[in-house]
Amino acid sequence: MTSIDYDVAILGAGSAGAAAASFLARSGRRVALLDSRPLRFGGARWVDDVPPWMFDRAGLPRPLPPVKRCDHRPLTLAAWRGNLRVSIGPRPIWGIDMPAFTQNLRDESVARGVEPFEEISLHRVLESRGRPVEIHFDGRTPGGDSRAHHLRARLFVDASGMRQALLRRTSRLSPICPALAPSEMCSATQQIREIVDRAGALDFLERHRIGYGHVLSFMGARGGFSSLMVQVEADGERVEILAGATDAGPAGTGPLLLREFLAQQPWIGRFVFGGAARIPIRRPYDRFAAEGIALLGDAACQTFPAHGSGVGSGLVAARMLADAVQPFDDPGCPEAMWTYQAAFQRERGGVHAAYDVLRRASQRLDEPTVAALMEHGLVNANNTWSTLNQQIPALPPEEVARMARGAASLRVRSVPLIASATRMPLIQRLYACYPLTPGARTLHAWARAAAALCGHRPDAQRPEGLPA
Ligand SMILES: Cc1cc2nc3c(=O)[nH]c(=O)nc-3n(C[C@H](O)[C@H](O)[C@H](O)COP(=O)(O)OP(=O)(O)OC[C@H]3O[C@@H](n4cnc5c(N)ncnc54)[C@H](O)[C@@H]3O)c2cc1C
Repeated sequence: MTSIDYDVAILGAGSAGAAAASFLARSGRRVALLDSRPLRFGGARWVDDVPPWMFDRAGLPRPLPPVKRCDHRPLTLAAWRGNLRVSIGPRPIWGIDMPAFTQNLRDESVARGVEPFEEISLHRVLESRGRPVEIHFDGRTPGGDSRAHHLRARLFVDASGMRQALLRRTSRLSPICPALAPSEMCSATQQIREIVDRAGALDFLERHRIGYGHVLSFMGARGGFSSLMVQVEADGERVEILAGATDAGPAGTGPLLLREFLAQQPWIGRFVFGGAARIPIRRPYDRFAAEGIALLGDAACQTFPAHGSGVGSGLVAARMLADAVQPFDDPGCPEAMWTYQAAFQRERGGVHAAYDVLRRASQRLDEPTVAALMEHGLVNANNTWSTLNQQIPALPPEEVARMARGAASLRVRSVPLIASATRMPLIQRLYACYPLTPGARTLHAWARAAAALCGHRPDAQRPEGLPA
């Protein structure tokens, strides 16, 4: 058994955890990075789309090819049935080879002195007056044998994604960060496959009036929060497919959607690369940090709710965490933890919460209503572009007038969606007022106001560890 002391221990060596490890080591902290998988298999195993501005905000260099697989590809939205098409133009996002990107982050963190542990199995989390202080696990350092470790740290970061491996074992955060309901999870699968019949691929492109390298997104196959995206690569050799839908059943709806699509497309062949997982799609927890512990990335529900994109957010949050702890000798002190939490809520929390309201409204729509929204200009190039770029859309008066005309012809079906859209700027403003200093009363008042404005149930608030 070994016993080691660190400034920071990070559970989860996916993109968020690996970025945080690198940033914290750069500022001179002694950091351990742990993953339950072999490190080279940590994090997302597929291609993720990320708006390039998020790399800048995180202070990371924009990825270059081949890690950046594609840039602003043209996008067309399609109704699940029928011929309705809406052309969006170039997407504001880049396709990123996540296994390669995350491995680069891990390599960089190790080069900065981060000490990795892999294939770990977490046994115990010891707390002192509600603060996690030590973990016991079996695991190996790369190249070594598996053995028991006792690891003490002043800050533990849960970046273990949907597992929330540390969160669920801590007494301060677990009761106030509720487990996700099925409607708050998206099951998604992303695959790159060979094209076995080029004529069949060409026929598919012609039928849908798109070209090679063009992204076609079928909307609403399983109601409002579902899509299936197809992109025949420019060389005509491979096709990239992404399917996602609100969670349901043991296998999830996304993989089911993909299977049904593949059964109808004989021109698509062997699986080359990709994976499947669940993604949280609710707003960030009202609190996701407490003395000695911070949640990061998917573990904190920092995923963009409209389409379950968590990579950019996790990187930005990792930067905010490193910046927040920088001035403090104790990286897990209550002030540092609150600074991190407030920074994310004030800058990104409002955008996420606003889209969470839209996500909940869209989940209630059926397939014909989704098609009608496209037909009447309520899903259009401007708001789709902003959604993909993870920003609140600017709505010039002529656009508002056009959408109002579209909404009027749709009548009651689109009312909740329109009501959600009009509240977005207000929600953003309220989150920008997230309390700057720890305090049970101010947090409670803010959470109640946010719940009233967004129409959600506030996360339970407990005063432990907070001044009144
Ligand atoms: C098919 C699909 C497509 C997606 N497309 C996009 C997209 O286009 N754009 C985008 O931004 N996002 C997308 N996402 C979401 C994105 O992949 C996640 O939001 C992102 O990977 C989250 O990063 P993370 O570092 O927080 O967590 P993860 O990537 O989940 O990493 C968590 C790590 O923790 C480790 N771990 C788990 N349990 C433990 C434990 N007990 N102890 C130690 N380690 C543990 C895991 O092994 C893993 O390595 C997609 C997701 C899916 C499934």
